[in-house]
Amino acid sequence: MIDLNFDDGIATIIWNVADRPMNVLNDASIAAFESAVRQVIADQAVKGVIISSSRPEFVVGADLDTLRGIDDPAKAMKIAGRLSLLFREIETAGKPFVAAINGSALGGGYEICLACHYRLAADNAKTQIGLPEVTLGLLPGAGGTQRLPRMIGLKNALPMLMEGRKVGVAKAKEMGLVDEVVPADGLMARARQWLLADGAANVVKSWDKKGFRLPGGNVQSPPSWQLFLGVGAALRGKTAGLYPAPAAIMESVYDGCHVDIDTGLKIENRQFARLAVSPRAQNMIRTLFYAIGDANKLIGRPDAVPDKAYRKIGVLGAGMMGAGIAHVSAEAGLDVILIDQSQAAAERGKSYSAKLLDKQVQQGRLTADKRDGFLARITPTTGYDQLNDADIVIEAVFEDRSVKAEVTRAAEGVLPPSAIFASNTSTLPITGLAEASQRPANFVGLHFFSPVDRMLLVEVIRGRETSETTIARAMDFVKRIRKTPIVVNDGRAFYTSRVFGTYVYEGMALLNDGVHPALIERAGTNAGMPVGPLALMDEVSLELMHKVMRQTEADLGAAYKTQPQDPVLIKMVEELKRLGRKSGGGFYDYAADGSKRLWPELATHFPRAKDQLRVDEVQNRLMYIQSIEASHALAENIVCARDADVGSILGWGFPAALGGVVSQVDTIGIARFVAECDRMAQLYGSRFLPPPTLRERAARGELLRAA
Ligand code: NAD
Repeated sequence: MIDLNFDDGIATIIWNVADRPMNVLNDASIAAFESAVRQVIADQAVKGVIISSSRPEFVVGADLDTLRGIDDPAKAMKIAGRLSLLFREIETAGKPFVAAINGSALGGGYEICLACHYRLAADNAKTQIGLPEVTLGLLPGAGGTQRLPRMIGLKNALPMLMEGRKVGVAKAKEMGLVDEVVPADGLMARARQWLLADGAANVVKSWDKKGFRLPGGNVQSPPSWQLFLGVGAALRGKTAGLYPAPAAIMESVYDGCHVDIDTGLKIENRQFARLAVSPRAQNMIRTLFYAIGDANKLIGRPDAVPDKAYRKIGVLGAGMMGAGIAHVSAEAGLDVILIDQSQAAAERGKSYSAKLLDKQVQQGRLTADKRDGFLARITPTTGYDQLNDADIVIEAVFEDRSVKAEVTRAAEGVLPPSAIFASNTSTLPITGLAEASQRPANFVGLHFFSPVDRMLLVEVIRGRETSETTIARAMDFVKRIRKTPIVVNDGRAFYTSRVFGTYVYEGMALLNDGVHPALIERAGTNAGMPVGPLALMDEVSLELMHKVMRQTEADLGAAYKTQPQDPVLIKMVEELKRLGRKSGGGFYDYAADGSKRLWPELATHFPRAKDQLRVDEVQNRLMYIQSIEASHALAENIVCARDADVGSILGWGFPAALGGVVSQVDTIGIARFVAECDRMAQLYGSRFLPPPTLRERAARGELLRAA
């Protein structure tokens, strides 16, 4: 776990937590490290100490298993406090410690380096350095918020801490996060040399010397005030008050840098404990780290099916989605046959990739050679014959059953029998589309999100006849292109569109109820949604939603129940011809410079109620309705609770602090949630009634999503 070597007065502590996928700080590794550190400090023969790792990474942070589900602040204080004290022992040992950073040093791993007296990084392109705790609702609790500003100044440290940015070695050197970058094969020799030549003169940290000042000015200096004011104001705008960690970091830095380091570390420790036990951090850890991690590991994949290796993919339709799917597939190293009706359309699809890649070349993030190699993997064409050895085909042609049926037949005519055929439909049930297939067991839905190169989620949709082998292979494919799969059963609008739709629909229902549109929009963003529901509706296109509504009406006939948003859709599309952003305007007007403002005439067409709802009531309507719909999807076995949470965060930007659309119910408390739903159902309509299964769980006091 921790190896310890001695060589001529120099001790080397080597991290090697072999029972975990990476070097992490957990009870066992901390205990081993602690005993190694204490041994070398006590050993008079040891004149200097190197800390490094024998694995590709240095140390990547705390093992979150230690913090998962923790609800006792005293326990959280103890966990972080133990490390914090140990690191202070390193710092004040009276003998020099050098961090030989061979690979990534993140979180607690980088905090070890901060405690050392010198930091050497190997010139390794894979190395990331940073304190990303904030991204899981935490703060660096082992000295990070105290040592970093004391070492590199407030101006550089605050954004690093508050955004959880990770940087490569060159940037780390530039920012002063490491002192020196050396060739990888010379790392240990240089560490030794530094200890022997410069170690003794550097055993006391600047902040342990009298008259210490923060680089760039103390907290009380006018530039620092300005900095804190600016950062604080920006923070409020960015986090909507939903994410307590950045503010806690700021407080920890501000308060901690007014006092000596030992007191500062105590301040940090309290802030850490407060965050660690907060439902917000626990939600983020549970969903962002564990649930998304499990989805990426394909937990839930039918395991009897052997792994499928992918080499070649066919993409039908080179429009917005097809071009994106081709791009991410080629990026992952697959050969892509990109098919459209005309050669020009297929070429246009490929040029989408060229544009994205050219930009990366311009920014210096990609070499021209790599771009060319990447592009060479995409073959634009109109013929299907090159699909004869494809492993998978994804169709992204027009959202039209007969067009989809036609391309399904054409592809199956040449595909090898084992290949899977996937549809990227957003609305058409997979079971119905599979009727056009000769091999419905190999037919599956793969629902991507736009823009495909940026959105991480893919919904894998199981049709009635889709085999488990096909599900497993579809999941393998999603992993291969480095996206996150959730598996859902077939049903109207599947899972994500169905639940996400309720947010925009409720926005329109509110408008119809006479709520001020600015209030609706503000309530959405205040609740932590990336954009207000009306703005989102404009992006999605009112015209499209109107079409979906009319189609559903036609499909269901007399069984169709008018929805609260229908009058708004009908008026906006049929009467006012406000079709959405792409068509020149919808709920908003758009200026040529990209700015937008709410369409002033909304007030005429949707008269405002005299008594406006309170913002928190509007917020609750917008947020509860999503969880209610998700509960229906759970009750109907469309999706499991974990995937429902993952899908909501990655699919439509549901706030991570709430853990996802299902965890929100648990965070509120299921009984309280149900009571609120009943109250809102009385006031606003039966759509707020939760499914009976939710009431039953509430009665039994169960969580909706097991930890
Ligand atoms: P698009 O109109 O941009 O692209 C469709 C492409 O298919 C066009 O290039 C068209 O020429 C081509 N095409 C049509 N008939 C064809 C045929 N017979 N053979 C070969 N090519 C043909 O549409 P899009 O936005 O890329 O959507 C494609 C599919 O993805 C639809 O099913 C849509 O519902 C779904 N989808 C769209 C989004 C989105 O945000 N746009 C998101 C998820 C899923």
